Amino acid sequence: MAQAPSNGNGAIDRRLIEAASEACLNAYARYSGLRIGAALRTAGNQIFRGANVENAVFPLSQCAEASAIGAMITEGEKSIVEIVIYTESAEVVPPCGGCRQRIAEFATPDVRVHLLNAAGIRRTFTLDYLLPVAFSLRNLP
Ligand code: ZN
Repeated sequence: MAQAPSNGNGAIDRRLIEAASEACLNAYARYSGLRIGAALRTAGNQIFRGANVENAVFPLSQCAEASAIGAMITEGEKSIVEIVIYTESAEVVPPCGGCRQRIAEFATPDVRVHLLNAAGIRRTFTLDYLLPVAFSLRNLP
C-alpha cells in the first residue's frame, strides 16, 4: 500500500540534505532558472549527489536525479535507500516521470523520496506512492 504524502516528521540523514543543497548551488540551469540538487544514500551507506544540467537543445538536458544515479553507478553502487531532491525555489520540486522510473530501477517501493526547499518546506513520499504499478525487470520477457 502506498504511503500518503506527508510533511514529513521522520528523520532525514543530514548528509543527504547537505549534499543536495551543495549540488543545487552547482546546477547548470541557464534556461529555466530552476536549480535542483539531488542526493541519494545507498545500501553501502555512501552518498552520491547530482545537479540538473540544462542544454540549449532542451531534450538533452539532464535532471539532478539522473546525475546522482550516474555518479552512484560510476562508483559501483546499485541500491538506493533514501533520496533528497532540493531546490531554492518557493515550491518543492517532485521528480519528473522519467526520474521516478530511473529511481525505481535502483530502489524498492518503500524507499522514501524527500522533497525539500531552502525555505524549509518538506514533503516525503514513498517511491510506490510516486510511481504505482511501476514497469520493472519483472515485466520483461
Ligand atoms: Zn527528471
